[in-house]
Amino acid sequence: MRTLRILAVIIAIAVVSSSAAFGQSRTVAITVDDAPYAAGPYPHDEYVAHAGRAKSDNARLLRAFKAHQAPVTAFVVQGNVELLGPAGTAILKNWIKQGFDLGNHTYSHPDINNLSIEQIEDEILRGGSGIGPLMQEAGRTTRFFRFPMDHTGDTQAKHDALVAFLAQHGYQSALCTIDSSDYIFNAAYVKMLAKKDAPNEEKLRDDYLAYTRVEIDYYAGLNKQVFGYEPPEVMVLHDNRLNADMVEQVLAIFEQKNYKFVSLETAQSDPAYQTPDTDVTRFGPTWGYRWALERGVKVKGSLETEPPKWVSDYAMPYSESPE
Ligand SMILES: [Zn+2]
Repeated sequence: MRTLRILAVIIAIAVVSSSAAFGQSRTVAITVDDAPYAAGPYPHDEYVAHAGRAKSDNARLLRAFKAHQAPVTAFVVQGNVELLGPAGTAILKNWIKQGFDLGNHTYSHPDINNLSIEQIEDEILRGGSGIGPLMQEAGRTTRFFRFPMDHTGDTQAKHDALVAFLAQHGYQSALCTIDSSDYIFNAAYVKMLAKKDAPNEEKLRDDYLAYTRVEIDYYAGLNKQVFGYEPPEVMVLHDNRLNADMVEQVLAIFEQKNYKFVSLETAQSDPAYQTPDTDVTRFGPTWGYRWALERGVKVKGSLETEPPKWVSDYAMPYSESPE
């Protein structure tokens, strides 16, 4: 009898742990763009005055990533590190000290559609000039570069030259598969906070989470349609006030949907990420759309939901300028 009971317990444990393992078969790498702090919503002098805010918001982000065991990569705009002064460098050192990764996101976050190949290469080199030594001090190397707004080259010559240049300098291009337009929500949110518009702040936070849920499902579906399975996802968030306030809930959404957090390197080691990217485009589509094109899979981009109009309207004119 006793043996039976023990056996029953063992079987129960086995069932629970195997279903947990099954439930966690989806993976996602969280990435945070525009570190040390998104400058978008602020005029220049106001941005610099936000150094203290930038520090405390980054501390909140890091606390949440630690608590949820998410190995995050932050993409740094070196020009903004310099603008924030000692606070900028202190923020990056904290990311490194706590075991997180830093990647290069150019020096000044330009739209590369407007630059020559030489100008872009200069942006890439100067973009790595601060984080390179910081990572080296910690015995680590910078492996990833992400193009601002995912603009990867609007002419064949630019596209091909940049692929070669990144490889030559030891950079892997960081892709992204889920985008929740968080920078539009943040632009509106920052305005609300300045106006002390509490009812709308609350509504925006709810709408942001609802939209994030919709986008996660949309992109998971899109990528499954392209490959026949769900490759690891790469989520792009921005280093901003909204995410400092909401990151706990955003991470919880992924957990509720049975995602396990993995590093960007792990996510991009999946064969899906070896799909060639030959798309020469002025726009910065997420990779699901590019992969669909490469593999000849017809997808309907018009099925993707836009952020709520009242949020974009509140954010205007800022939402016109992408991050
Ligand atoms: Zn960016």
